[in-house]
This record gives sequence, C-alpha cells and structure tokens, in this order.
Amino acid sequence: MAFELPPLPYAYNALEPYIDEQTMQLHHDKHHQTYVTNLNAAIEKHPELSGKSLVQLISDLEAIPEDIRVAVKNNGGQHHNHSLFWELMGPNAGGAPTGAAAEAINAAFGDYDSFKAAFKAAAVGQFGSGWAWAYLDGGKLQVKGYANGENPAMGRHVPVLGIDVWEHAYYLKYQNLRPAYVDAFFNVINWNKVSELISAG
Ligand code: MN
Repeated sequence: MAFELPPLPYAYNALEPYIDEQTMQLHHDKHHQTYVTNLNAAIEKHPELSGKSLVQLISDLEAIPEDIRVAVKNNGGQHHNHSLFWELMGPNAGGAPTGAAAEAINAAFGDYDSFKAAFKAAAVGQFGSGWAWAYLDGGKLQVKGYANGENPAMGRHVPVLGIDVWEHAYYLKYQNLRPAYVDAFFNVINWNKVSELISAG
C-alpha cells in the first residue's frame, strides 16, 4: 500500500503566534505531500519493497536497491521526519517537560535549561537545510543536528523530539532569524508525545 500524507492533527492556525498559518499550510499540504509522492514513485519501481514500513525502509538503506536509494533516503527520511514533527507540536503546549520526558532530560542533561541550550545549539548550528533531533541511544537522551532528511532512525536510534530547520519551516515569519524560530518552537512542544516516544523507545 502506498504511503499517505497524515492529516495535520490540529488546525493550520493552531500554533499561532509561534508558527504562522500560511507556513503550516504550505509546509504540510505542499512540502510534506511532495515527499510522500516522490517516495511512492520510488517504491513503485521496486514492488518487492511495498510491504515494508517506513522505519524499516530508512533504517536499512543498504538493503534498498541502488537506483532508488537516494530517493528513499531523502523522501522517506522527510516523510518520517514530518510525520513525527506535526505530532511533536500542538496548541496549548510547550512549557516545562513532564513525565518520562522530564525524567530523561534531567537524567541526561541535568535540567531543562541545559537541554534547551543543547537543542537550540544543534538547531541553530545545523549548516543549511536539516533538523535537530533529540533521540535515545541505548536508553540515553542525546541531541544532534542532521543534514537534509537524515534522522536518528537511520542510525537505528529512537527519535523523540525534532525541529525542522529547513528555511521552508520558518522563512515566511522569521526570515533569516532561525534562532527566533527555535525559541518560538519551545512554546509548542507536545511533551505528552515526547514522553510517549521515550516510553516506547
Ligand atoms: Mn519541512
């Protein structure tokens, strides 16, 4: 079965004023849809892959036929990243982490402010298009920047919180001010989802 664009789990304007409605509309309906369309076009060339899950595909790229490997890495990686990204944000969210997220952050970083500083540094410091991800590596929370559509699942780690730092994610509202966008992101983090991913990790 072909991959499908998941519906945005809230209204396009639900993350205002931190992330604007027009950005959400274009980002979800156009950018994410394009990744899904291109991923499906690649998989269609190799029907033997059609039963595999998205994480199965991107966590073992060497098993992907060479003629579609880059397309699966880029578009599969981005489909995975965006599907998580929408769920990792929400209205009436942000603030201090709770539950399993708070425990993992305090265990690995000491406190939330130290985690925020590390996550922001990874997001701001990612050269060009990419993501910053917090992920579990052997149960321990870590933070790192990733280029383009890459992500922790490609290294067989468990991604638990990510921010898209491609310019399409923030340029309409924040222009060149990526740090201001990252600061705003902390106001929309859905900690319940982060905790859920950590507990399942
Ligand atoms: Mn994006």
